Amino acid sequence: VKITDISLPLSSELPVWPGDPQIKVERYRTIAEGNISNDSRLVCSVHSGTHVDAPVHFFEGASTVDKLPLDILIGETSVVEFARGNVITPDMLAALKLPEDTTRLLFKTSNSMLWADPHHRFNPNFVALSSDAAKWIIDRGVRLVGVDYLSVQKFDDSEPVTHRILLAAGVVIVEGLNLQNVQPGSYRLICLPLKLVGSDGAPARVVLIRE
Ligand SMILES: [Zn+2]
Repeated sequence: VKITDISLPLSSELPVWPGDPQIKVERYRTIAEGNISNDSRLVCSVHSGTHVDAPVHFFEGASTVDKLPLDILIGETSVVEFARGNVITPDMLAALKLPEDTTRLLFKTSNSMLWADPHHRFNPNFVALSSDAAKWIIDRGVRLVGVDYLSVQKFDDSEPVTHRILLAAGVVIVEGLNLQNVQPGSYRLICLPLKLVGSDGAPARVVLIRE
């Protein structure tokens, strides 16, 4: 059994979305200061590092991250690779000739190379899905999509259309995957976001398993 961790390391050096708080894992009690234990707190956006988006992220009153169905977050997934291009289009998706029953899709792009240096500066030119690609995905009945940078849609999109199409259809969005060491193919996905009550997102540990 081979287990590949495709989560990003949460540290203060990891790039965050422009304007989001820097990630901090900070000690508030230390043995060095005479306490019996070391204790830390985590300060960050719920959209930091490898994380999941919930419908309430873009729709007031919609479902929250603690309600995401585990049977979508865990199961067979396809990892597909687009080595070229900076936006993923329906034509590119159709050319993959995916099996009809594909329920989970992870996209490996040139973004994953950026994670060779997990301390790089936020790169606004990352590869992402067009809104038409999002429509293609929901029409095909895909229930989970994962991308290898911090957003499923292009940085300069004026409206969050790609997010809205996917979230309105109940598709789970996983962002901030590191697929640099993953070959395209079929795997078992385990994605477990923190059970943050009422939240619009949550950091997740995500692994791929191949037997
Ligand atoms: Zn997010």
